Amino acid sequence: MSKGTLSGKTVIVTGSTSGIGQGVAHAFARVGANIVLNGFGDAAQIEKDRLAIEKDFGVKAIYNAADMTKPEQIDAMVAEAESTFGAVDIIVNNAGIQHVDNIEDFPSAKWDAVIAINLSSAFHLTHAVLGGMKQRKWGRVINIASAHGLVASKGKSAYVSAKHGIVGLTKVTALETAEFGVTANAICPGWVLTPLVQKQIDDRAKQNGTSPAEEKLKLVSEKQPTKEFVTVEEIGALAVFLAGDDARSITGTSISIDGGWTAQ
Ligand code: NAD
Repeated sequence: MSKGTLSGKTVIVTGSTSGIGQGVAHAFARVGANIVLNGFGDAAQIEKDRLAIEKDFGVKAIYNAADMTKPEQIDAMVAEAESTFGAVDIIVNNAGIQHVDNIEDFPSAKWDAVIAINLSSAFHLTHAVLGGMKQRKWGRVINIASAHGLVASKGKSAYVSAKHGIVGLTKVTALETAEFGVTANAICPGWVLTPLVQKQIDDRAKQNGTSPAEEKLKLVSEKQPTKEFVTVEEIGALAVFLAGDDARSITGTSISIDGGWTAQ
């Protein structure tokens, strides 16, 4: 894609201090979009990344620490983005957490947290920006769902419910905006080797008395026919494509990028 298409647009990427969100933020900066970073982490490291984005890609990047479980903080992040850049053109609802336990052992507080961060936050951010997008007749809503938005695994009741939910939210968003130049799509990645997945690998190694390297290969081979992790760069490239003009007729879809996981 030529740099021109998204140059000067403004994108909020939630949970962009790590993993997939960070990769997506870099991909948008590379094509000239201004970036709103969000997420938790070490303040000095986040500032280093923000400055690197500005220097490496020649765009403006700001950081907002909104806790995505707090609607009023989400509204304040949108207000800061609008006062800095004029408008929010693209949102990538990416912030997410995982908790693995069978249903009978699943702590209620963990259920509430997973639903709040992985599903409700996407509603609150979409709610805050959609009016402006419709008014300006251009906007892109990109929801990072998961293969678990399409199929289930044991032990992931809250995550699978949230991800199936965000696929539904994507469809409603698409229908409500179809005549306003706005699209909404869900990206459904398979395994990506990020801190969220590394924790699951380490937990499994502890449980099974194996090495993390062994569990890493087992984990990816169980689900993904390619036996290879998806990369954050691949997801970034897909998000940028969905935001571009060539994708203006793609809306309401769930796009798998999962090494064949959900083809089985
Ligand atoms: P990660 O742990 O590397 O990053 C998660 C990000 O979310 C971090 O920036 C973190 O600070 C942020 N975050 C967490 N809670 C937050 C909150 N309350 N408010 C604001 N930010 C918060 O994880 P990741 O693997 O990059 O996951 C990103 C998204 O991709 C998640 O929605 C996840 O479900 C999805 N996903 C991941 C995989 C995978 O294999 N890694 C596969 C499919 C989908």
